[in-house]
Amino acid sequence: MSVEARPEAVRGTAPQERLYSACDYYDAESLLTDGERHVLGRLRSFLDEQAQPLLADYWERGEFPEQLAQPLIDLDLMEPAELTGAPGSRPARGIYQGFRIFELARTDASLATWYTAQAGLFRTAIRVGASAEQQAEWMPKVIDFSLKGVFSLTEPESGSDIAGGLSTAARRVRDSGGDYWVLDGAKRWIGGAATADVLAVFARDVADHQVKAFLVDRQAEGVTLEKIHGKTSLRMMQNAHITLDGVRVPEAMRLHNVNSFRDVAAMLRAMRSDVAWIATGISAGAFEAALRYVTQRQQFGRPLGSFQLVQEKLARMLGNVTSSLSLVVRLTEQQDRGIYRDQDSALAKMQASLLMRETVALAREVVGGNGITLASDVARFHADAEAVYSYEGTHEINALIIGRALTGESAFTR
Ligand code: FAD
Repeated sequence: MSVEARPEAVRGTAPQERLYSACDYYDAESLLTDGERHVLGRLRSFLDEQAQPLLADYWERGEFPEQLAQPLIDLDLMEPAELTGAPGSRPARGIYQGFRIFELARTDASLATWYTAQAGLFRTAIRVGASAEQQAEWMPKVIDFSLKGVFSLTEPESGSDIAGGLSTAARRVRDSGGDYWVLDGAKRWIGGAATADVLAVFARDVADHQVKAFLVDRQAEGVTLEKIHGKTSLRMMQNAHITLDGVRVPEAMRLHNVNSFRDVAAMLRAMRSDVAWIATGISAGAFEAALRYVTQRQQFGRPLGSFQLVQEKLARMLGNVTSSLSLVVRLTEQQDRGIYRDQDSALAKMQASLLMRETVALAREVVGGNGITLASDVARFHADAEAVYSYEGTHEINALIIGRALTGESAFTR
């Protein structure tokens, strides 16, 4: 049981009640339809009743609570039939998708990252990279999770400089064995790889030196996965070091619309806004946990929340959450109108992550000693924020993307 027990009022929220009170000061929730709020209320009940009791234990063990995976999939959150009608008739709105990530991250960053690996990273790889025929075959399976995939871009020797540094090699072969590619190289940090069906692997074609993408069967000969141990952040999320040693991939499993790193950049541009929503959700979860704690804990004969210095920290945390939420809501509205620019999602990811880092530190601070034990939700948020701060573009790399847009000068050296 967490130190700052969750009040009954937020459990199993009915659609007519507000989902977010303390953390959504300017009522961004009003942009959601009743149907969208109803789906998010279903997610809330699942998170409070089934996930929350497991989080501290699994975080400490460094394992993902696999028993949550299928029930979470069964909630039908990606393209819920009640929001989209017949499959494929219209997509769920961006604002719903944003709040879905926010709701997950507000409870736990690993759960949000796990869900986003499929709904954000892998789905975006297919949406941007697959041909129309490939999409017709794969997308329904991506949406119902019957084809689970991960995004394998980062390499042991290339993180921030992956555009120029990507060295996993792809060699096309046409012989009596058919038309296929042979992949050699390594990938690092790949989230969810151990339980995926396929790995979306980005590799450089040795013939034209352009980056291409392939769906690699996780169980294919030559694929080796090693769990990355000893993480101090996002411990529940499983990340893999992948070695590819002469792995054969049929030409039919190449993503036909990925012909250079430009196409990968289009994926990153779309995915970074999801991480900005995750950072915002973490800030909200940490703020709410801290607020609960300071109203319950007494020192000097009064609740902590009655002290001026504590109230100043609460106000800063709320300011951070409100700024981040305003940022991601506006970005999402732009993207729903078809406006995607590198610098826009980079700005949201950079700024929401900066504010998250301050918010989780303030939350940890007001919870005192209990703030560094897993009995308190803020300890988990505090530790997990560090991974989110670095993944999908570090602070510096996003700043350089913004700087390039502002000045017309690229400060990337490669
Ligand atoms: P480096 O690139 O080595 O950077 C180290 C530091 O140097 C950073 O502070 C960076 O900002 C700074 N730096 C680098 N270049 C410059 C420069 N030109 N100017 C100023 N500063 C600079 N990748 C995937 O492909 N798929 C995944 O599913 C995935 N999941 C991840 C999950 C977790 C938990 C983590 C931690 C990472 C994950 N990643 C994944 C990889 C992630 O995207 C990289 O960690 C990130 O891009 C940074 O790369 P790096 O860690 O190699 O750091």
